[in-house]
Amino acid sequence: MTVHHRYPLLFSPLDLGFTQIKNRAIMGSMHTGLEEAENGFERMAAYYAERARGGVGMIITGGIPPNLEAGYGSKLSTHQEVDEHRKITQAVHAADPEVKICMQILHMGPLARNPNCVAPSAVKSRIAAFTPQALDEDGIEKQLHDFAHCAAMAQQAGYDGVEIIGSAGYLISTFLVQKTNLRTDQWGGSFENRMRFAVEVVRRVRAAVGAKFVLVFRIAAMDMLEDGMAWEEIVTLAQAIESAGANIISTHFCWHEAPVPTIATMVPRAAFTEVTGRLRQVVRVPVITSNRINMPSVAETVLASGEADLISMARPMLADAELVNKAREGREDEINTCIACNQACLDHTFGGHRQVSCLVNPRACRETILNYKPTTRAKNLAVVGAGPSGLAYATVAAQRGHKVTLFDAGAEIGGQFNLAKRIPGKEEFYETLRYYQRMLEKHGVNLRLNTRADGAMLASEGFDEIIVATGIAPREPQLEGIEHPKVVSYIDAILGRKPIGQRVAIMGAGGIGFDVAELLSHAGPSGALDKSVFAKEWGIDFANHPRGGVTGVKPQVASSGRTITLLQRKTTPVGSSLGRTTGWTHRLTLTRRGVRMVNGVEYIKIDDAGLHTLVHQVPQLLEVDTVVVCAGQLPLRALFDDLTVLGVKATLVGGAFEAAELDAKRAIEQASLLASEV
Ligand code: NAP
Ligand code: SF4
Repeated sequence: MTVHHRYPLLFSPLDLGFTQIKNRAIMGSMHTGLEEAENGFERMAAYYAERARGGVGMIITGGIPPNLEAGYGSKLSTHQEVDEHRKITQAVHAADPEVKICMQILHMGPLARNPNCVAPSAVKSRIAAFTPQALDEDGIEKQLHDFAHCAAMAQQAGYDGVEIIGSAGYLISTFLVQKTNLRTDQWGGSFENRMRFAVEVVRRVRAAVGAKFVLVFRIAAMDMLEDGMAWEEIVTLAQAIESAGANIISTHFCWHEAPVPTIATMVPRAAFTEVTGRLRQVVRVPVITSNRINMPSVAETVLASGEADLISMARPMLADAELVNKAREGREDEINTCIACNQACLDHTFGGHRQVSCLVNPRACRETILNYKPTTRAKNLAVVGAGPSGLAYATVAAQRGHKVTLFDAGAEIGGQFNLAKRIPGKEEFYETLRYYQRMLEKHGVNLRLNTRADGAMLASEGFDEIIVATGIAPREPQLEGIEHPKVVSYIDAILGRKPIGQRVAIMGAGGIGFDVAELLSHAGPSGALDKSVFAKEWGIDFANHPRGGVTGVKPQVASSGRTITLLQRKTTPVGSSLGRTTGWTHRLTLTRRGVRMVNGVEYIKIDDAGLHTLVHQVPQLLEVDTVVVCAGQLPLRALFDDLTVLGVKATLVGGAFEAAELDAKRAIEQASLLASEV
């Protein structure tokens, strides 16, 4: 066996006795939302097969409920459903017979969006839609039977194993924690009783599938609940799970309802691996770690520190199906890195029944629909604007074999991403810019920076098609005093081009208003780059691991000391338009820094005294030194209009097409789709 020169541990096999995992990179479980979609299983088969070809050692599928009450739609309990799943396993094994694929058995318990949901006790989660029905003894027996039956069905369907999720606030974990398990029978009370269900699930599943089948158990190694599991309980459970027949223990770090971010972009890379490392000391089976491990160098460092045996990367595999191959072949600079934005993946999952994809890779979960096939008729294309949509269009079109010239008036590529990367906690945007820079080079895009392309110039250069990705201009509200020197655009504020006073009003509380508030209220190192800052900000005690891993004391959040008021005209709660899975972290952080959020505002005028408003019809003067305008955008279409006058056909993409929906997810998706068809 040859040892990889750069990632010797990542590319070493793991022997489970009866089978081998070819390397230490695992594609973690991620719900796709495709189970109920038209041709959903064919689409999932293509999606997983592409990741298998991409080099992972083992894939764990999105969660599949063992029965109807465990979820809200799909399940695996019948032979007909086995046939559907077989499409996935056959595609993966055909792509690479060495790749293992395990199906995650997900019993959502009280979190199932289902009026018939069940739990150990009738305790409704803060984030659940329904109060669960408390299981009686027969009900518990049925659930245990259904877990084992589902695992047997998965085996019939050709999976190499199953992962049982015993964390996150789903059924198994609600037995473990006192606040959700109020029972006084053999399934509640002492920890020995509370863990009985988890252990029994593993025991029954092992009995159903025999010895030569991978059984991964996902444990909440730090549930982030103030009244959560104590470290000794986690150790006891892990050892009991191992004795009951698990081959691998996978560590998970949060219940969905816990007010601590564990996967958002503000979480430092590999923040939780030391917890996995502690657990690894007390069990004999291999352990998987996860969360914010998005590049092979991070994975190798974690393995080298002895903190884990296997590295799970779920979202990074959405962002780049070929991540592992690229690492093996020394093409790390070609990796399309997951930026942990959640905008196209978990925000979709938790926002309802929407299908999942990826902001930086709109092909994710659309492998049968969106393909970048080589063109049979290469064209000479001009793309104007090197922001997210222009970059996506140029790189996809060039990859397909078109000759592409990309113009930008600025000195660097990136457009609005160059603003995003400056916001503390959004440093991952540097990776996206690195990726696009590399793709431009790799696919031979002729990049012309510092070049303001005008209609006449483009018309004279004989392009077959012109794509206008000129982006947006910030909206300037019509307001008396908007020319006052204390008024600053968000672009000037973020780029530090204008001084910002101590007392600040921010007009507009969309994504950018929040970004500006974050930047202006921030002090000290970014928590995303410094784990001790992150731990203090969110009240996590990694060293002592109190119950749940959290201290329960008020988190310490450093602040710039500015007095900041974030304003909007709507009467809806401020921040309600932010991402489903991350918006709350921004609202909480700013509140902890003393940022005041005000809705129902009518702006009257700006003068030396400050910003004059009516708040819910009551006059209020905000005595501020600076007013930062974050009032949305208008499309920049001057070039498009010039071309139209000249009779030259052009295609609008991104913010220039529709600024009201300016959003990198939409811009990249739209541009990639158009470039796949040109
Ligand atoms: P936005 O989300 O549309 O918010 C614009 C804000 O301006 C709103 O709060 C709106 O609230 C206010 N506004 C609109 N017209 C106004 C007017 N004439 N006068 C005063 N206020 C006005 O736009 P954005 O904040 O510029 O963000 C742009 C895009 O970038 C969004 O699509 C967003 O998704 C994306 N983005 C996302 C994030 C993220 O964290 N996910 C971060 C940054 C940017 P009222 O009308 O109620 O006043
Ligand atoms: Fe990562 Fe964002 Fe893509 Fe989700 S949408 S996989 S968080 S880059």
